[in-house]
Amino acid sequence: MTRQFDYVVIGGGSAGCVLANRLSADGTSTVALLEAGGRDWNPWIHVPVGYFKTIHNPNTDWCYSTEPDPGLNGRSLKWPRGKVLGGSSSINGLLYVRGQREDYDHWASLGCTGWSYEEVLPFFKRAENQVNGEDEYHGVGGPLSVSNMTFSRPICDDFLNAVAENGTPINHDINGATQEGVGYYQLTTKNGRRCSSAVAYLNPARSRPNLTIITHAMVHRIGFTDKTADRVHITRKGEPSEIIANKEIVLSAGAIGSPQILQLSGIGPADLLQEHGIKVEHHAKEVGKNLQDHLQIRTVYKTNKPVTLNDQLSNPLQKMGAGLQYILQRKGPLSMAASQVYAFCKTRLSNNRPDIQYHFQPLSSDSPGEGLNKFSAFTASVCQLRPESRGEINIQSNNAMDHPSIQANYLSTELDCQTAVESLRFTRKIMETKAMSGHIKCEHLPDPTAQTDAELLEQARNIANTIYHPTSTCRMGVDEFAVVDERLRVKGVNGLRVADASIMPEIVSGNTNAPAIMIGEKAADMILADR
Ligand SMILES: Cc1cc2nc3c(=O)[nH]c(=O)nc-3n(C[C@H](O)[C@H](O)[C@H](O)COP(=O)(O)OP(=O)(O)OC[C@H]3O[C@@H](n4cnc5c(N)ncnc54)[C@H](O)[C@@H]3O)c2cc1C
Repeated sequence: MTRQFDYVVIGGGSAGCVLANRLSADGTSTVALLEAGGRDWNPWIHVPVGYFKTIHNPNTDWCYSTEPDPGLNGRSLKWPRGKVLGGSSSINGLLYVRGQREDYDHWASLGCTGWSYEEVLPFFKRAENQVNGEDEYHGVGGPLSVSNMTFSRPICDDFLNAVAENGTPINHDINGATQEGVGYYQLTTKNGRRCSSAVAYLNPARSRPNLTIITHAMVHRIGFTDKTADRVHITRKGEPSEIIANKEIVLSAGAIGSPQILQLSGIGPADLLQEHGIKVEHHAKEVGKNLQDHLQIRTVYKTNKPVTLNDQLSNPLQKMGAGLQYILQRKGPLSMAASQVYAFCKTRLSNNRPDIQYHFQPLSSDSPGEGLNKFSAFTASVCQLRPESRGEINIQSNNAMDHPSIQANYLSTELDCQTAVESLRFTRKIMETKAMSGHIKCEHLPDPTAQTDAELLEQARNIANTIYHPTSTCRMGVDEFAVVDERLRVKGVNGLRVADASIMPEIVSGNTNAPAIMIGEKAADMILADR
């Protein structure tokens, strides 16, 4: 079976939903959105705390794992990625963070014309419906609802004050003039419910006659005629079919899916493609390379009073109360994002801008997505903002159903190792402040006996985990090895762009959902301008 559209968007995630909406908005072009997952009907998707139910769940998560990583003492990590309309924005931690001005200015300095902070800011603003109103940095009236945190606990205030006591300024808007500082996160929620990219961008566009959303459409590869991408091969419920693109194909399958589909389509390192019997359409040696991620070290401290959610939610009556509170008021523990307090701080290794980020939570568990610990404790997760370690993604066969191999190569450079150690020392200083020390019974993680740099690094290697921000596997740039140019066109072929977190030349200094949505907005603008 064959169907034809002007634009075919592959992947209905953070960026793909933006493209489906913007490209179909004026009604002059037909657009198909192809998504391997299903509709976002699982009710837990829409309850903020529901990510505990949707990650590691094969109905909503691709359930990837990394290869055993030498930098993590051979551990393999689970890497959740959304497999549902909304993509990872349907299962993520809801935190709204854009990164630093310098990140985008750096992209521009690498030759990516049009991507400086001043040039991307209008797209962040166009996407946004900011609950606190419009200003120089924020927009209102956009599809993406950005709200203030409604859930907190007194220990969150104490952590905030402790970070300030340790020398980091209080900053109520990390997406404003400057990022450095400590405060409460803003969330992509609307009236206490998740505002995924599907909720924000697809729901209002769903009834347009020129937009066709095809769920359970597994993309196997893109087809070419004379180096022009003009069709997409999919299966739906096992049935193969072809989707023809009259104008362009936009690949928005995310930092794992996009390089995988390019490689399966013959765009990638020639030796890898030949090894798997794939015809080389264009030798592009960096497709799948430059993989970057934020590695979080979840430090956990036991408290001397039952002031954490571990205590509250271990009591069945209080648990029921929390459910009732959410149903009646859309507030309480179920309205909780993945973290409450942020802190963007400078370690001694950084003198000009924050190099580490905290995610503070008044709870603890052995691993995100697992049950809470039985003891009273809180978590201060810390991650390096601009890691130098680079990993890679490679297909393992010519079958799209086989997961590619993910080699993350965490903690493989000197700076990354030093920053991990510094961040653990920095955390201990915060815990020694007047504001915080009164709460602490003992350090649970890392091991309190770890004192030397070598011992602390060993702890990091044993306990660190992904914070779910893979990027940069289809790097944008102007040099010969970049995968896409500054208008996101795949080099070496025509009619094909990539628009998602994979195009970031370098990872941004913060969480990656808002930047992926900005990339979708800017891509749509460029595609319409080039039409
Ligand atoms: C558990 C978790 C927590 C996170 N927390 C936060 C947070 O709090 N704040 C934040 O800013 N960021 C967070 N992130 C990161 C952020 O959500 C992602 O960076 C962002 O959503 C990436 O957007 P994207 O468009 O690049 O890809 P995605 O949103 O992942 O979209 C890719 C889409 O392509 C589809 N696809 C892939 N392959 C195929 C194929 N072969 N055929 C058809 N469709 C395909 C996928 O199913 C998916 O829908 C989190 C991520 C996760 C997983």
